[in-house]
Amino acid sequence: MNIAFIGLGNMGGGMAANLVKAGHEVHAFDLAQGALDRAAGNGCAPFANMRDAVADVEAVVSMLPNGAIVKAVYSGDVIGHAPAGALLLDCSTIDVASAREVTALAQEGGYRMVDAPVSGGIAAANAGTLTFMVGGAADDFVAAQPIFAAMGKAVIHAGESGAGQAAKICNNMLLGASMVATCEAFKLAERLGLDLQTFYDISSKASGQCWSMTSYCPVPGVGPETPADHGYQGGFATALMLKDLKLAMAAAQDAGAPVPMGHRAQELYAAFDAAGNGGMDFSAIIKTL
Ligand code: NAD
Repeated sequence: MNIAFIGLGNMGGGMAANLVKAGHEVHAFDLAQGALDRAAGNGCAPFANMRDAVADVEAVVSMLPNGAIVKAVYSGDVIGHAPAGALLLDCSTIDVASAREVTALAQEGGYRMVDAPVSGGIAAANAGTLTFMVGGAADDFVAAQPIFAAMGKAVIHAGESGAGQAAKICNNMLLGASMVATCEAFKLAERLGLDLQTFYDISSKASGQCWSMTSYCPVPGVGPETPADHGYQGGFATALMLKDLKLAMAAAQDAGAPVPMGHRAQELYAAFDAAGNGGMDFSAIIKTL
């Protein structure tokens, strides 16, 4: 397929490279010349203008920082400029309302569109092992399968437009709260004189077990290799966790849903980010406890 890829940053760069590896022709556009040069090095065709990049493609994939940018990109340079009928996949993590708004605009313009945020981070983007949570019509979900297959290992249809974003922010709210709880448990265990490896061996096989403990342990030297073993560098940045928690809090407010644990996690990550730790892995919050 001919596919335009917009936003070739930490995540988009690897995703676009995997589309090329799968045999697709990828038209790359990014505002940052460095990102565009890297994409060209990975076999994408770089474009200096977004409208030219989308002009003759069958699909557009975007991986952009936030909802305002996604709205501006689609309403300004994709809708009315990509061929009618093209399949549009926004893989950015954005608010549910913006996702629904952009899809409605795209559909009015004669396009098919899904929201398809991802879980897995930069390593999974590079390896082609992302998990996609997809919101949109069932036939659009099916039509997008060859594109997802090149970039991910699991693709789940979450429901109608916006459902992919809803699933993503609910998942990440749970992740933020569970990471804080995991950190607290290890710090309390330490204060109570427990050996931390022993506590891990017990809790990882008991009812406290969770992904934040057994796949992403915040304690260096305990559990599998994680960012904690590398000075909390790499991994999933605190600033991005905070972004997702803010999206979850906004969605909870709109929906009138009480989320006291998510709310507290957001406060703790906001303070950690404000103290200059936005670039550290989110498990580094253990240092504040
Ligand atoms: P990034 O900042 O590395 O990349 C974003 C890219 O978009 C940049 O290259 C930037 O130049 C480009 N861009 C910004 N505005 C643009 C515009 N108007 N037109 C064209 N290009 C534009 O960010 P990232 O880490 O790749 O994250 C992208 C999205 O993926 C975000 O929504 C993020 O929440 C989500 N996400 C990130 C991770 C992660 O671990 N990094 C994991 C899951 C989801």
